[in-house]
Amino acid sequence: MYGKLIVETTHRRFTARQGCRVYIYQALPDLIHLILLTFYAPHQTLAAALTYSCPQVFIMSFIDTLHSWPRERITALYEAMTPEQVQSALAREHRDITDLIALFSPRALPFLEKMAEEAQRITRRQFGRVISLYAPIYLSNVCAANCVYCGFSACSGASETRVTLSEEAIADECEALARMGYQSVLLLTGDAPAVASPEYIASACAIARRWFASVAVEVYSMGASDYALLCQNGLDGVTLYMETYDEATYAAMHRAGKKKDYMYRLDTLERAGKAGVRRLSTGILLGLFDWRIDAVWLALHVRHLQKQCWQSAVSISFPRLRHVPGGFAIPAPMTDAELVQMMVALRLVFPEAGFNLSTREPAALRDRLLPFGVTSISAGSSTRPGGYARPEDHNLAQFEIEDARTPAEVVDMLIKAGYDPVWKDFDQAFFES
Ligand code: SF4
Repeated sequence: MYGKLIVETTHRRFTARQGCRVYIYQALPDLIHLILLTFYAPHQTLAAALTYSCPQVFIMSFIDTLHSWPRERITALYEAMTPEQVQSALAREHRDITDLIALFSPRALPFLEKMAEEAQRITRRQFGRVISLYAPIYLSNVCAANCVYCGFSACSGASETRVTLSEEAIADECEALARMGYQSVLLLTGDAPAVASPEYIASACAIARRWFASVAVEVYSMGASDYALLCQNGLDGVTLYMETYDEATYAAMHRAGKKKDYMYRLDTLERAGKAGVRRLSTGILLGLFDWRIDAVWLALHVRHLQKQCWQSAVSISFPRLRHVPGGFAIPAPMTDAELVQMMVALRLVFPEAGFNLSTREPAALRDRLLPFGVTSISAGSSTRPGGYARPEDHNLAQFEIEDARTPAEVVDMLIKAGYDPVWKDFDQAFFES
């Protein structure tokens, strides 16, 4: 039995939209599920109102949200978009998914300058002039997965040395980075729990915490208990990109290893947030799929995480495929102008989200992107294990960095451009309060 109910709410985000549609269906004989099909759903408010008449309320899982926004629906909205809708999206204070599609659309290109000005204004209002600096530490370049675009892939044919750092070597890397001034690091491994187990990564977090105020990981998808273990050892952030939300493309790009499991990866950040991780960073690998579709799904995911893991800060990264293993052609290359459009549109919809930009992008473009919403950048990065303390070892690197400036040079650039570079990207006291 299917029914439809219109719920009125006084929540300010809904008054402009004249209510929120709630679909009711009966999945089990005596159990009514409510699915809230909204982008800005303040679900606590709606749930409170609806439990009056309904025994159980279920907020949509993210896969249900994703399925409610199929590619065809998004494409139809792009095709019907008018310049007036773009202007209206630009003028609004609180923007929803349809506004985001307007701002992502080719129709928005003539308004890009205005969008960029607004993105700059919002960023300044939310974050001031602060840009935080972090550096990656590669713990291991061993990987059992076969992601066709990656230099670490088990099938990449790379002949350079693969290593997993010992505890002493991790400490050496930390010391080398700490001497440069860093207080925030990102620990990375491949998808190889047999050599870099959750316990090994937990131990690396504990070692890194001796030097750094903030420790995050970018490793394989883990279970909730593993994330809890990492938190007990000083972890505060998890970075994990879905790469692409398009299931067929995901399957074609990820051919072996744990990462092959699309559904397990899709729920990873939610598991991490619920296990106590207080900084969640997500993104898509730009170049794998049509960004105008994938970035809408990314936005839905960010909104979902903000609701489900409300105690965690959610940030967005913008990794763009540039250098790839021989024989692999980037399926959907993204131009610099498109990267700017994506970034400023997301800033207009997510004023509170941190934006991270890595050294994958060249120095000149990174400098140009800074005003449009960037809040955190890496600098002086090495993408090979041991790359800071023993650069002469030349272990296998994941990818070549484009911005090869030293941390001191990046800091100098930031100061000259009027920013306040900080080595620590949050106040620990805030999370402990
Ligand atoms: S992207 Fe990650 S999981 Fe995939 S091959 Fe590279 S290191 Fe391994």
